[in-house]
Amino acid sequence: MKRRDIIKRLGFLPLGAGVFGSMLPFSAARGESTRTQGAKRNLLKELGIRTFINAAGTYTAMTASLMHDEVMEAIEQSAKEFCMLEEVQDKVGEKIAKMVHAEAAMVTAGAFSALTLGMAGILTGADQKKVKQLPHRLEESGMKSEVILQKAHFDGYEHALANTGVTIIPVETAEDVDRAVNEKTASMHFLNWHAPEGKIQHEEWLALAKKHNLPTSIDIAADVPPVSNLWKFNDMGFSFVALSGGKAICGPQSAGILMGKKDIIAAARLNNFPNSVTIGRGMKVNKEEMLGMYAALDRYINQDHDKEWKMWEDRVKTITSEVEKINGVTTTVTVPPIANHNPKITISWDSNKIKLTRRDLGRKLRKGSPSIEVMSWGDDQHSIDLTVFMLKSGQDKIVAKRLREELSGGNV
Ligand SMILES: *Cc1c(COP(=O)(O)O)cnc(C)c1O
Repeated sequence: MKRRDIIKRLGFLPLGAGVFGSMLPFSAARGESTRTQGAKRNLLKELGIRTFINAAGTYTAMTASLMHDEVMEAIEQSAKEFCMLEEVQDKVGEKIAKMVHAEAAMVTAGAFSALTLGMAGILTGADQKKVKQLPHRLEESGMKSEVILQKAHFDGYEHALANTGVTIIPVETAEDVDRAVNEKTASMHFLNWHAPEGKIQHEEWLALAKKHNLPTSIDIAADVPPVSNLWKFNDMGFSFVALSGGKAICGPQSAGILMGKKDIIAAARLNNFPNSVTIGRGMKVNKEEMLGMYAALDRYINQDHDKEWKMWEDRVKTITSEVEKINGVTTTVTVPPIANHNPKITISWDSNKIKLTRRDLGRKLRKGSPSIEVMSWGDDQHSIDLTVFMLKSGQDKIVAKRLREELSGGNV
């Protein structure tokens, strides 16, 4: 067979396994070349992970918040260098402490671990033997073992303190506190966002602690804005303050800040990674998150908060004015006074006119394109709640449009 004939014949050959197989490296090579030409892989798409417009809020399960460019830059730069972890914590902690009016500060794996480590610091002080003992047999090792908390301040997060081995003692009045204090009492804890429901407010709580010579702690995890809350409780004199980094501050989701008295922060660090026989060894924060947390806090403190609030109000207006065009729909806007202090929209509808429940609407928004999450859990009431502070620019219009479509049954 002449060479020309062979080529001719091959051209008419059916796509057998041999031919098909020989083409595989070609397509793989093509894929490779598109990537090197600049088209980045999108792992979210590749793995089929649903992304959505977050009109719900900084919920941990929804990955809470998105990081700004300054934070990503801090992460990217530091990812390419080695440093001593303790030196990063020293330098970042020093800067953060100044920013929040605290004697000392450290980056933790969220507010939850800040609570555990701060508590551990109170219990052990600088005693290495005690550090190794936590969370077991506190009393045998000469440690205190009880923490006083107002009944109204139980919300589940006190578990972070209990993880050190302490027992939480509930109280209601100042007299209860006086009765509860004994030789086992380690500290008095306060949950900021439940303050209005408690009988004892911050100043009186601190005065009682002073009277009994006890350290104090406060959980302000989700309590910025206002930005002034970053230093308010340090100024008041709480021994340690726990803050989430990945909520409204938009730091890395797995980061948080423990701030307060020098001795407590130093002791908290003894109880933390990279030290191995500690309660905090599993609460590792990498250098990227430490620096990312610092970058996020710096940006947050220096941003124009009035301008941001105005932007939220504009978004609220975009959404409420659009859905109010529908017969039977009303809206109200409220701002929680403490914790997640930003405008919350409640959209309610007349169930005689619109046959939808809260869950129905939530499901339709989730399944729509683009997918949208609102606060749709709870009973079958005829209303839905949403926030605008986690929206990206322009998404308020999309949310408004989708809500109008679903609430009007497609008759827009
Ligand atoms: C979110 C939250 C926490 C936990 O914060 P993380 O940063 O997720 O660890 C603790 N307490 C309260 C009141 C919270 O809202």
